[in-house]
Amino acid sequence: MTTAQPRPEILTIHPYVGGESTVPGANRTIKLSSNEGAFGVPPSAQAAIASVVQDVFRYPDGGADRLREAIGKRWGLDPARIVCGAGSDDLIYQFCLSYGGPGRDIVMSEHGFSIYHIAGTYAGSRVIKVPERNLTADLDAMLAAVSPSTRLIFLANPNNPTGSMVPSEDVARLRAALPPEVLLVLDSAYAEYVTRADYDAGVKLVDATDNTVMTRTFSKIYGLGGMRIGWCYAPPAVVDVLNRVRGPFNVSVAAQAAAIAAMSEPGWVEKGCAHNAAYRPKLAAGIQAAGLKVWPSEGNFVLVDLGTTEMANAADAFLRSRGIIVRKVAGYGLPHCLRVTVGLAEEVAMVTEAFTDFARQHRG
Ligand SMILES: *Cc1c(COP(=O)(O)O)cnc(C)c1O
Repeated sequence: MTTAQPRPEILTIHPYVGGESTVPGANRTIKLSSNEGAFGVPPSAQAAIASVVQDVFRYPDGGADRLREAIGKRWGLDPARIVCGAGSDDLIYQFCLSYGGPGRDIVMSEHGFSIYHIAGTYAGSRVIKVPERNLTADLDAMLAAVSPSTRLIFLANPNNPTGSMVPSEDVARLRAALPPEVLLVLDSAYAEYVTRADYDAGVKLVDATDNTVMTRTFSKIYGLGGMRIGWCYAPPAVVDVLNRVRGPFNVSVAAQAAAIAAMSEPGWVEKGCAHNAAYRPKLAAGIQAAGLKVWPSEGNFVLVDLGTTEMANAADAFLRSRGIIVRKVAGYGLPHCLRVTVGLAEEVAMVTEAFTDFARQHRG
């Protein structure tokens, strides 16, 4: 060895590729690549960020007390069982690093959120990806993949990038069948968008067991992805672990202020949810009318299935030529698909038209 080397598994990790923001040469770009809320930053959060600029020479409240109190009030939860993070990604890393590790396997579904694989490998765990059915987590297969070495299981519900959702009854059945030493992480990043009655974001299961946690984020419907704020609701023993290992000042002054303000913005979540409920079906129907396949989604995005990698790449290039950026998902094992965020009405119309023109060019 001639120079400093990380543990060998670190170099098997492919850096996370986020949604791109610009198309070179386009004078206007429409960014539908990162599932950000359609309506931007809540005005009250903008004001809150502006109001703390003179305070940022001070360290933040490491315990995020006011923020946890506000979250507790908003969702009817005990603030003592909430831990905040620099995005929910931060918390996912902490779960992997403290409950995973060498000899401690992590189970996720085949097309599950990619951070689980990155953070799990970083921790030194073997990360087992379990095949899905119809791009939906197969809970029986995930259960069958659990061995005496398994310590963590991640389920994004709804999942990104597939959009598929697992009913609360099935999640409860999974929990009941899992060994008690397996921590179940329910990642409910898109919970606010779900309108189905058979959904629960995870609160009930966290309350009913001592080995289930729910993670949430301010990055999607609350429009604060750039601020990096997420949180989890967890049993006391898990809260205790997270508070030992997390960065002591992991959520910035501005992020805490913005999140508190965002929750108080009147009608914000209702507006985002109603827009999504109206425009996600419009987006899906428009793309389907062009003869393309769209997978069912409960999130603020749809997965368009172009059938082949070549077609997906061609569609992506065509959209880019119009300044429209969607998300390639080859890294998720879906090279034949593109993920499209539900944007504003005008953006939905433009991306639908682009897919329609693309399909027309490529027919026959
Ligand atoms: C967007 C997303 C998150 C949120 O990440 P943050 O770090 O909170 O921005 C978490 N899980 C899934 C499945 C997501 O799509």
